[in-house]
Amino acid sequence: MAREDYEVVIGLEVHAELSTKTKIFCSCSTEFGGEPNTHCCPVCMGMPGALPVLNEKVVEYAVKAGLATNCEISRDSKNDRKNYFYPDTPKAYQISQFDKPLCERGYVEIETENGKKKIGLTRIHIEDDAGKLNHDDYGRGSLVDLNRAGVPLIEIVSEPDLRSADETDKYLKKLKSILEYIEVSDCKMQEGSLRADVNVSVRKKGEEKLGTRTEMKNMNSFKSITRAIEYEVERQIDVIEKGGKIEQETLRWDEVSGKTFSMRDKEDAQDYRYFPEPDLVAIRLSDEYIENIRKNLPELPESRKARYLEEYNLTEKEARTITASKYLSEFFEKASKISGNPKAVCNWLLSDVARILNENEEEPEAIPFLPEDLAELVMLIEKGTISSKIAKDVLEKMFENPGKKPSKIIEENGWVQISDEGAIKEIVDKIVANNPQSIIDYKAGKDKALGFLIGLAMKETKGKANPQMLNKMFLDAMKD
Ligand code: ADP
Ligand code: MG
Ligand code: ZN
Repeated sequence: MAREDYEVVIGLEVHAELSTKTKIFCSCSTEFGGEPNTHCCPVCMGMPGALPVLNEKVVEYAVKAGLATNCEISRDSKNDRKNYFYPDTPKAYQISQFDKPLCERGYVEIETENGKKKIGLTRIHIEDDAGKLNHDDYGRGSLVDLNRAGVPLIEIVSEPDLRSADETDKYLKKLKSILEYIEVSDCKMQEGSLRADVNVSVRKKGEEKLGTRTEMKNMNSFKSITRAIEYEVERQIDVIEKGGKIEQETLRWDEVSGKTFSMRDKEDAQDYRYFPEPDLVAIRLSDEYIENIRKNLPELPESRKARYLEEYNLTEKEARTITASKYLSEFFEKASKISGNPKAVCNWLLSDVARILNENEEEPEAIPFLPEDLAELVMLIEKGTISSKIAKDVLEKMFENPGKKPSKIIEENGWVQISDEGAIKEIVDKIVANNPQSIIDYKAGKDKALGFLIGLAMKETKGKANPQMLNKMFLDAMKD
């Protein structure tokens, strides 16, 4: 059978570290980094007899996430022990939620080529993060750092509704953006604040039964998730085409070789011997509590996008791209307000600024200047102080010299646009006198000749002459 005869099925388990000040069951700091084992206490180090107390903020943040993703919120929820032994987990169990998660049956909407698509969420539950093993620097063993142990997580489990690497990418980006908007997680993927277990299977088109899946754990970059899915889909189809069977197993994606490797057989629920956590009380939420959180939810990406269409007259695509990042959209709003020119601000952000960020593989948070600086640049073009061509050079310098104002850059480089009529006339007259053939061509209907003359003037003035004035004066000079 050909590859097109197969359908890809993907489901994600996304872990997001919550940005509460303190850990989920003790009052230790959740701050990233720090000297190893300095954000720890008997509770998060799993000392016998130490008792956990649930951090109320964790419940609030999880409910917020549930409401923002259209989930039903459980009034009656509880914590369970998930037993497993691994040296980064000193309790020898994780405190998670088994049969009564806080949130269930939600969805996240993505835009696909065939229109909007709802990706179902099975559940969102709360749990504690594990510590970190440092293998690399210690040749003969591993050292464990428990600063991260007990940092609160939500796990967001999707239905197997995704049908391609592209849909998966869109879903994860949308989820990230929602979590950023509601400010429950900083979603820094490089710090592991947002990571996904990616479950992949294939089946013949038309087949109802799902194929056997493999799971790639702890993926924390969009690029590797896409690559890993593409590789894994090919691998699975190959196995099936050769008459083999897919084993349900946990895989490790290796970024360098671009391949997946088997880590272990897949464990299932009974291996974990789940049982209700005896050291914690049940979580009971009133309608009032939930409604209060719902009422105070901030504007979400979807409604912000709709507002941009109305308020700023952006196109659907512009509004979607800007609002996908909370940081970028706030940057946009500030710069638009100051400059009074949202269209221009949007253009700069989505073209030149986005290009430079892309080249450096950076997120909007890395823009090294303020919204007021971009606004200034836009206003300087409007006023005619610089041409939009020179403005591109100014922008480059704004990236190279964080904190330096556009006006200062223009002044230091002598980039002020020449808009003095006398000065421009002088240049125009000289060029007209030296290029009689172009004048004849233009008069004979070759419009291109005008562009050529303007180009000469720009060359002469190193791009500083006011293009509108050049245009007008050349036309005037060629009239007779
Ligand atoms: P666990 O991995 O913890 O055992 P589940 O069995 O509930 O949990 O599945 C976890 C994830 O795997 C979910 O996101 C689900 O959508 C996805 N999934 C389940 N079956 C398949 C399948 N056959 N193909 C792809 N994804 C699947
Ligand atoms: Mg899993
Ligand atoms: Zn602690």
